[in-house]
Amino acid sequence: MGRNAGDIMDSQMRNGKSRILLIEDEADLIYILRHKLEREGYTVFSARDGVNGLELLVKERPDLVLLDVLLPMMDGWETCRRIRQLSDVPIILITCLSEEHEKVRGLELGADDYITKPFGLMELVARVRAALRRRDYSMTRSAVVTVDNRLTVDRKRRQALIDGQPVDLSPIEYRLLTCFLDNVDRVVTHRSLLTQVWGWEYAEETDYLKVHIHNLRKKIEPEPGQPSYILTERGLGYRFRIP
Ligand code: CA
Repeated sequence: MGRNAGDIMDSQMRNGKSRILLIEDEADLIYILRHKLEREGYTVFSARDGVNGLELLVKERPDLVLLDVLLPMMDGWETCRRIRQLSDVPIILITCLSEEHEKVRGLELGADDYITKPFGLMELVARVRAALRRRDYSMTRSAVVTVDNRLTVDRKRRQALIDGQPVDLSPIEYRLLTCFLDNVDRVVTHRSLLTQVWGWEYAEETDYLKVHIHNLRKKIEPEPGQPSYILTERGLGYRFRIP
């Protein structure tokens, strides 16, 4: 059975009691974030360091982890790596480092997203919602994915349809598209797309990727010059969005 963006929205609204684990050492920030997230209907557990965070992860089985990078004892990178050994829970890194290579490092360690300090609370809540929605979306690996009223992907027939009409995608373009569907609302790095679609030998072939993204956009975007599905994340990769 297909799910469309409306169903996902509904599930998000019903999902008011999602459980969030906050791993952060600054008391003021814990207080502010907890207060805001609880007002949004989430249940919040907090840990002041990575070791305690891992204990709570096992004990409370949260739906999402908000993880500060600069932590005492075990830093956020190491904590992220250890969480990934235990769980595929969505992780949003809280970083004060805006350098691209730091973001790439986090994404490649298995974080789903990052937010840079200082950030607005509404921005944080939007990221949390998106990460939970993405989780719901990838849990339903249904044969037919209704992206929106326009675009549908039939995984059984390996075919994309626009307004019900098949689109002529090359095998590479189709694989790129399904890679994006498995990662809705999430930044997928160049390296990750290249290794998943072409293989590890192609990990550095960013120009190659750009050509195929360009072609895929021409085939599926209503206005390829102003993409509404496949957004560019400069220096990082791409983010597939449901308009
Ligand atoms: Ca900190």
